[in-house]
Amino acid sequence: MQRISDLEAWRDYAHAQRTQGRHVGLVPTMGALHQGHASLFRAARSNGDLVLATVFVNPRQFNDASDLAAYPRTPESDVEMAEHNGVDCLVEPSLDAMWPDYPDATPTTVSVRGIGDRLEGAGRPGHFDGVASVIAKLFAITGPCRAYFGEKDYQQMCVVRQMVRDLAFEVDVVGCPIVRDVDGLAISSRNVLLSAEGRSRALALSRALALVGEQPATASEHRQRLEQCLGEAGVATSYVEVADPVTLAASNDDEVGIRRALVAGVVDNVRLIDNAPVTLRARNS
Ligand code: AMP
Repeated sequence: MQRISDLEAWRDYAHAQRTQGRHVGLVPTMGALHQGHASLFRAARSNGDLVLATVFVNPRQFNDASDLAAYPRTPESDVEMAEHNGVDCLVEPSLDAMWPDYPDATPTTVSVRGIGDRLEGAGRPGHFDGVASVIAKLFAITGPCRAYFGEKDYQQMCVVRQMVRDLAFEVDVVGCPIVRDVDGLAISSRNVLLSAEGRSRALALSRALALVGEQPATASEHRQRLEQCLGEAGVATSYVEVADPVTLAASNDDEVGIRRALVAGVVDNVRLIDNAPVTLRARNS
């Protein structure tokens, strides 16, 4: 496995691979690699791509300094995880290389209005500006590629898809399913911050989503059931929403068909998110 930290070397490497006829599969991560990330590496590999994974804890997408300070960092096991899961090239750029102005503001920001303002965006002002800005930079350096994103961060995937459309990046965004632990909890780097008791409470998120996934209902009914399930488990919900799977605009009770249910809550001071498809039925049917 090749390891690169220099931006020009990364750009040259991706370019050279394309020149040799390889398709570059980019997997952006913030490290603390786990089975969720590994599933993206394997997806890229099974598409025949040259797998280029990046590890960069992007401070611009943290609106809370203590969240950034607590974010897990496991550089040694990241190298092992990447190597054992088919990564061809691991890129670990420095903060100084990515954002030389930091901690001062970087003059250029990519902002995806609408999709980026809702849900996570409403609770974490500036979060998706930080996400879109760093992903735009990763795309600009990597060049034409397939980029793999987990549905675990569903809204992030929607923001990136919109940005790719609007700014004409030569990038195919590939969405990959959520990887869960056996108990149903969506795997996340932040899960290690949960106490044993907190972890069992956190299961309410996936349980609530599984429950509403079982039978069609109106958008309001789905929201009520989600609220109730999370409330009973003592999870402080940040939001519970049923939304259009592309724009993430909130669904109303006149809509029918497949939509996305998205939930966020705080357990042990750890912010958790999860989502799943739901079916909307016609009112009074
Ligand atoms: P992160 O390192 O948390 O920024 O995540 C990097 C990428 O891995 C994002 O596209 C995430 O959506 C994806 N990812 C994280 N956890 C999971 C999971 N449990 N299942 C699938 N993809 C995931």
